[in-house]
Amino acid sequence: MEQLEPMPMDWTRALAIAAHPDDLEYGVAGAIAGWTDAGKDVRYLMVTRGEAGIDGMAPAECAPLREAEEIAGATAVGVTVVEFLDHPDGIVEYGTALRRDIAAAIRKHQPELVLTGNFHDQWPGGGWNSADHRNVGRAVMDAVADAGNRWIFADLAARGLAPWNGVRYVAVGGSPQSTHAVDVTDTLDRAVASLEAHKAYLEGLGDHPMRDARAFLEWIADLTSSRFHGRRAAGFELFRM
Ligand SMILES: [Zn+2]
Repeated sequence: MEQLEPMPMDWTRALAIAAHPDDLEYGVAGAIAGWTDAGKDVRYLMVTRGEAGIDGMAPAECAPLREAEEIAGATAVGVTVVEFLDHPDGIVEYGTALRRDIAAAIRKHQPELVLTGNFHDQWPGGGWNSADHRNVGRAVMDAVADAGNRWIFADLAARGLAPWNGVRYVAVGGSPQSTHAVDVTDTLDRAVASLEAHKAYLEGLGDHPMRDARAFLEWIADLTSSRFHGRRAAGFELFRM
């Protein structure tokens, strides 16, 4: 089987942009733990607060809870900067409002690596991806270019957010078209802790197989190992910008 390439390491700061609290924890948090161990600066940006994610809990109660769970999950893998946009969970629209908010964050944090989640129509196994994931990931790809162009969203420069052309890579976790991978053998326990920090969310899943954090993350890492020299790994589709 064709093997995945190791992810490049010639970067110092990454901004991980996800639609929902829990998205990064379901697959790429192990890679992030390894990077922060290596002294890299990784920061999180959530497009929503995940307030529509728990069936038995009203959004007003759910949002602050999920925000706190995301911060705890980030801490478990060495991430201390976690920011939230206020797009509505479940009905995030692709458009200039979303691109502007993401471009502003890229200009503010000045990452060389941008991480995001699978934005293809389907997951690696064929299941249909969600509208929020599709819209956020595609907006991230476009906002990387917007962040570097002073004439797009010119109001951002007036707010002190100068253009940032330093993004060298965008890495997409959970893609059906992975090209690269990161060994998570030594960080899997922290990845599990990071996902288990989403206690209320996991409880809200009831009997769903994604409730068992360790079983799910081991399954994903083992699936990827067949394409990464037998090592448990997190896969990424890498774009060079
Ligand atoms: Zn999600």
